[in-house]
Amino acid sequence: MASLLSVREAQSILLDSIHVLSAETVAIRSARGRVLAETLDAKYDMPFFTNSSVDGFAVRAVDTINASLEKAIDLEVVGDIPAGSSSNIAIHAGQAARIMTGAALPNGTDAVVMVEATDHFHRGSDSPLPKQVRIHAPVHPGDSIRPRGQDVSAGARLFSIGHLLRPQDIGLLASQGYANVLVYRQPRVALLSSGDELMDPSQPLTPGKIYDANTYLLSTMLEEHGAVVTSAGFVQDDEASIREKLDEMVATDIDLLITSAGVSVGAYDYVRKVIMQSGELIFWKVNMRPGKPLAFGNYRGIPVIGLPGNPVSAFVGGLLFVVPAIRKMCGDVEFRNQEIQATLLEPVESDGRESYLRANLEYQNGKPFVRLSGHQGSANLFALTRSNALLILPSGVKSLPAGFTVKLYPLSNRELTGQ
Ligand code: AMP
Ligand code: MG
Repeated sequence: MASLLSVREAQSILLDSIHVLSAETVAIRSARGRVLAETLDAKYDMPFFTNSSVDGFAVRAVDTINASLEKAIDLEVVGDIPAGSSSNIAIHAGQAARIMTGAALPNGTDAVVMVEATDHFHRGSDSPLPKQVRIHAPVHPGDSIRPRGQDVSAGARLFSIGHLLRPQDIGLLASQGYANVLVYRQPRVALLSSGDELMDPSQPLTPGKIYDANTYLLSTMLEEHGAVVTSAGFVQDDEASIREKLDEMVATDIDLLITSAGVSVGAYDYVRKVIMQSGELIFWKVNMRPGKPLAFGNYRGIPVIGLPGNPVSAFVGGLLFVVPAIRKMCGDVEFRNQEIQATLLEPVESDGRESYLRANLEYQNGKPFVRLSGHQGSANLFALTRSNALLILPSGVKSLPAGFTVKLYPLSNRELTGQ
């Protein structure tokens, strides 16, 4: 297909043929950012047992009803309950037990007097258990206790299938005794850059050559979004070398193949040709700027996304096509690039293709405004690093005046909150 697809059409064609991967069991310690492939319910009431929310004295509230600073009430201390202990003490009228935060409430008690409201406070935290405690203020039933099941009841839904696990979720799973969880597999992705001009940044630069930026830019971008990069590097613009390397990569049990460069119409753009020989190209041009030569298809049955060679184009193509594909494979089917709106501080122009311009978002009196940043050339990585957003000009629009509202993709979470 040689016609020019819109970004949206191309994204939906691509995402329709990318599938969520199989599931695997992982230790919760490694599950942050993974997507649950099972629904999990609470195994226990939480708290597990009614316990004290302060350090103090467990009492029968009724015994303290008349306590005041002027007229304190003395209770007999009949036990000591540190957190983690399991005692069978029972408290009767006129009695109390010293109790620590998180310890189970003894039988017969219905409230805790915090240590600050007793004479024990002045004795210091390591003082021995007193025979008596003087209470300076009344408590009511339920004061300073955390009843069993206050947070969650056994059987309640913790997380549904498809939930993206955050640190607080991992904490909850641990507190419910889940040591392992079933999550979707992370895609194994191989990345091949091509170009006779490329050199690895570890080598001294020779005339006519440039350093291979895309292998590094794309590897880290893939990993940032949950992919496992199994192999990454570059080959010369040589049909046989490209074929050999791609064959080597698909033989290693990968889920996705990414190429950079060689999909345009240049005399040495062999990547497209090699893919077509052993697979198919579903599209290879998208109506966008930068990054029109962007290919999608499969190579020996493995989905392949061919990104343009210019580093900024590779970045934008990666953000629009590769990242959503990876997120879907990881089970994150709701993934969308975050989008916000801002007012143009200056007029902008493009060529009528859907344009992703390097820009800077700024907040004035809490309102979002945007202006272009640096040179818009699709090879200019420095200008990209000095931008905090991509300003989106819709297709068919060649210019917009200052004051117009436009859509942006922020390039870090910081921009979303205006910090
Ligand atoms: P191509 O798609 O092969 O026509 O490449 C387009 C432009 O991107 C050329 O200027 C290449 O030198 C440049 N380019 C290709 N691959 C890379 C790479 N891995 N790192 C940096 N620049 C690249
Ligand atoms: Mg090239």
